[in-house]
Amino acid sequence: MFSPPAVLCAHGGMTKWRVLMAMMRTCITCGTRYEYCGNCKGQAKGPTWKNIYDKESCKIIFNTLASFKNGTLTAEQTHDIVLRCKDVDLTKLTPQLQENWNEVMDSLKPKKIEKTESVRSYTARRRRLKNNEENLIVNED
Ligand SMILES: [Zn+2]
Repeated sequence: MFSPPAVLCAHGGMTKWRVLMAMMRTCITCGTRYEYCGNCKGQAKGPTWKNIYDKESCKIIFNTLASFKNGTLTAEQTHDIVLRCKDVDLTKLTPQLQENWNEVMDSLKPKKIEKTESVRSYTARRRRLKNNEENLIVNED
């Protein structure tokens, strides 16, 4: 199939440089710079998500986190779907998405133990144990 080079795109009157700039996009999920021009004949049939995402997985992640935020998906479901998008580097998510993802991870963490032993009572317990050990040693004599 014939597909014309991207620079043949009809951005009327634009210089080649500006045409290239018009085709450079930044993915709103992972911040990747990619080239896509919805006006180019060669790419005109590209999926519409190509206008804002570099990969389909990025679209899935973006929508999944949005659904988590509005309560449509649970943290478990969100976690499941996002981890299936293996071609996206989750450390590259935009700050907003990173925040949402952290929220998912946080709500999946096991709940904190209700009664956390205070440092003081822990130290006291250790001391009692130590004394007992010493007593045992003494008793052995
Ligand atoms: Zn992306």
